[in-house]
Amino acid sequence: MNKQTAGIHHITSFVRDPQENVDFYSGVLGLRMVKKTINFDAPEVYHLYFGNEMGSPGTAMTFFPSPGSRIGQVGGGQVGYTSFAVPSGTFAFWEERLAKFGVETKKNERFGETFLQFKDPDGLQLEIVEREEGKASQWSFGGVSAEKAIKGFAGAQLYSVNPAKTMDTLTNVLGLTKVGEENGLVRFRSIGDIGNVIDINAEPMGWGAGGAGTVHHIAWRAKNDDDHKNWRVHVEQGGFHPTPIVDRQYFNALYFREQGGILFEIATDTPGFDNDEPFEHLGEKLQLPAWYEKHRQLIEDNLIPIEVRVLKEDR
Ligand code: ZN
Repeated sequence: MNKQTAGIHHITSFVRDPQENVDFYSGVLGLRMVKKTINFDAPEVYHLYFGNEMGSPGTAMTFFPSPGSRIGQVGGGQVGYTSFAVPSGTFAFWEERLAKFGVETKKNERFGETFLQFKDPDGLQLEIVEREEGKASQWSFGGVSAEKAIKGFAGAQLYSVNPAKTMDTLTNVLGLTKVGEENGLVRFRSIGDIGNVIDINAEPMGWGAGGAGTVHHIAWRAKNDDDHKNWRVHVEQGGFHPTPIVDRQYFNALYFREQGGILFEIATDTPGFDNDEPFEHLGEKLQLPAWYEKHRQLIEDNLIPIEVRVLKEDR
């Protein structure tokens, strides 16, 4: 079976303060909070999803905010940089915008592109790059109009402890194509037009440590439930032991750890974030899967209230 993922579906990270998380990703970066739910495996923790107007596959940045949790160490076995695509001609806007919010940036040139690199409040490594491809976001918020908005993921930079093995998996399991090599990095592309460019270290990196400010996992796209079942067989044939298929309410998921230490997920494009609330009201109300609904009061009492708000720099 030959399979090719369209690219990144979502990326999930650990952070500490939920309001700080909302303020940064919605208030500063202008993403729409498309879902406010809980970690289905730990209902005392929020699971917050940010993306374009729909949180379309290839745009969904998700978080488990856990106040007081320990800070991790970015390093091998993780996604090192999460890259966002912005429309051509908006680089200077983003550079000024981040400066206005006191976010330190630096420029990184690679493969003929300029990346604006910065960190979120917990130290998560992010970058912005202009890309022609990828559908424009339809979401405007605060000081970010839809014409300048983040489209979704440009891709990611993987930090592997065994890059030869990780590259094998990218090629032979996920169906990505190697397109370049430069300054200790190897570049791969997937067939989609968003979340489609993956850079990886050519030489092994030392292990990082999980915790706030680090990525927990990166998810790759499967089309639908039937395709997802085929992906599970395909991953097994690639020599991995994927988890059973899990219902994540907005997609189905399966997980496996690749040999460079990074936790990979494969997630379906369907049904999407309007599965349990209308498009107009995405992210407004705490959504719980049916099996947690009877505990709603207790769950809500344990969560710190959060709000999506325009920050003072934009008022
Ligand atoms: Zn996931």
